Amino acid sequence: MSETRSNKALKKRIEQCTLCAGSLSHEPKPVFSFGANTKILIIGQAPGNKVHQSGKAFDDKSGDTLRTWLGIDRDTFYNTVFFGIVPMGFCFPGKNPKGGDLPPRPVCAPKWHHQIFEQLKDLDLVLLVGQYAQKYYLGKTAKRNLTETVRCYDEYLPTYFPLVHPSPLNFRWHAKNHWFIDRVVPELQEQVRKILNGI
Ligand code: SF4
Repeated sequence: MSETRSNKALKKRIEQCTLCAGSLSHEPKPVFSFGANTKILIIGQAPGNKVHQSGKAFDDKSGDTLRTWLGIDRDTFYNTVFFGIVPMGFCFPGKNPKGGDLPPRPVCAPKWHHQIFEQLKDLDLVLLVGQYAQKYYLGKTAKRNLTETVRCYDEYLPTYFPLVHPSPLNFRWHAKNHWFIDRVVPELQEQVRKILNGI
């Protein structure tokens, strides 16, 4: 059972959402995926321009890096029995004057996330990818910054696994934080392997 009538209806409502139409310089185009039996939910930031064009989440260098960290191939990543992809903002938010991406639209997660969680009865783990997801879901239990939150990832298990965003722009962070690849990624792969093998 990868689809139910209620999650199909919810997906349709999200696809038709125009809540941010007046705040975007383009038509809203929500990018997300989940199924009734999704086991692992990836909560990222918002689509970049490339994903906005393709309509496929993490179909970019960030996605390649994330799949490597998870220890899985593209077929597994895009199979909604295994993974759902639900950003903090489903639509590309546009660019700031310096050329970087704007933050996720703040109305999106409060509007839609709880409705999606209600659908996911088999959910085993939520990956909080980046500071926006961590602030929203960890609240006061988040550490003083993303680095410390990710370093203390095991305090949030078995519900949440906080991660740095896999963007290539974070290369300086990785140069200073080798413990992430050495210690956190192997634990992430073990968690994912156990969940996927239990299906
Ligand atoms: S970002 Fe979210 S709330 Fe805003 S238009 Fe897109 S789907 Fe709707």
